Amino acid sequence: MLDAAQKNGYAYPAINITSIVTANAALKAFADAKSDGIIQVSTGGGQFASGLNVNDAAFGAIVLAEAVHRLAEKYDILVALHTDHCHPEKVDSFLRPLLDESRARKEKGLGPLFNSHMFDGSVVDLDENMKISAELLKECVELDIILEIEAGCVGGEEDGHDTSGLPAEKLYTTPDDMLQVYETLNPIGRFMFAATFGNVHGAYKPGSVKLKPTILRDGQKVVMDKYGAEAEMDLVFHGGSGTSAEDLQETLDYGVIKMNIDTDTQYAFTRPIVTHMCENIEGVLKIDGEVGNKKVYDPRGYLKKAEASVAARLVQACDELKSSGNTIYSA
Ligand SMILES: [Zn+2]
Repeated sequence: MLDAAQKNGYAYPAINITSIVTANAALKAFADAKSDGIIQVSTGGGQFASGLNVNDAAFGAIVLAEAVHRLAEKYDILVALHTDHCHPEKVDSFLRPLLDESRARKEKGLGPLFNSHMFDGSVVDLDENMKISAELLKECVELDIILEIEAGCVGGEEDGHDTSGLPAEKLYTTPDDMLQVYETLNPIGRFMFAATFGNVHGAYKPGSVKLKPTILRDGQKVVMDKYGAEAEMDLVFHGGSGTSAEDLQETLDYGVIKMNIDTDTQYAFTRPIVTHMCENIEGVLKIDGEVGNKKVYDPRGYLKKAEASVAARLVQACDELKSSGNTIYSA
C-alpha cells in the first residue's frame, strides 16, 4: 500500500475508531470511494472500547482490531490497521502487549494483528527518541510490522496529550532531524515518519494555523541528495482536520502517504445526532409522565445517521488525498 501511494502520488486517510460504529463507517467510506485506507486506534480509543469496568487500552485495541479483521472480509478494498500516538511511558502497557499479540498470531501462521504502530518519542530529545525507535523497529520488522515515528512536535491537544505551550520552533522538524531519522531507521526496516511542519491536532478557525509544507520538501531533499531518489521517506500528516484541500495536496508532492483525521470525523459523528435529538425532543425524552417514542430513542436510529455522516466526511478525505478509485485490492 505504501509503495502504491508513493509511486502514484496519493495518501491514505487514517481514521481513529473507537467502536464498531466508527469501524463500520470507515469501511463503508473506503468501499464507497474504492480506496484502500488505514484504520487506527489510539490509547484513549482502546481504553474506551474496552468498557468502563475493564478500562485497558491494549485490550480494547485488540478487540477493535479483531472486529475489523472480520468485518473487512466483506469488502473489496485493503485496510491496514494501525495504532496512534504511544508515548514512551506507555510502551510497556500498550505497544508491547500488542506486539505480543502479533507474535502469538505469527506462531499460528497468521499475519500481524496490526500492520503498523506509532511510537511517539517527540517528547524526549531526538537521540533518545531514535534509540527507542530503533529498538522497537527491530521488533516490528520480525513481525512484518511497520513503525511510525515522530520527530518535532504536532501542536494542539489530542487524546489528553497537550503540546499547546511549546515554543513555535518545536513545531517544525529540521532537515538535519530528518536525515538523522533516515540514517538511524532505514538500515533496520520500513518506517513511516510524522515530521512536523506547523500542523496541529484539533479544530482551528481558518487562517490560525501556519503550515509550512516546504519543511517536508526540504528534509526529503537533504536525504535524497545524499542517498538517491529511492530514499524518499513515507511521511505522515498529523492533524489533518480543518486543512484546505490545496494544503493537503501540496504535501502529497513531498512524500506524504498517510494523513490522520480525527477531529473532523468526531464532529461528523455528533452533528446528525444533534439534529436527531432536536427534531425528536418530545420522543427521545419521557416528559410529564409520558413514555417517549421508542422509535426515536433506540440508539440504532441515530447511530446509523452518525455512521453515514462519518463515512461521507471520510469519502471527502479520500477524494482530497486522491486515494479514491485507486484500490489495489485485486492487484
Ligand atoms: Zn497525531
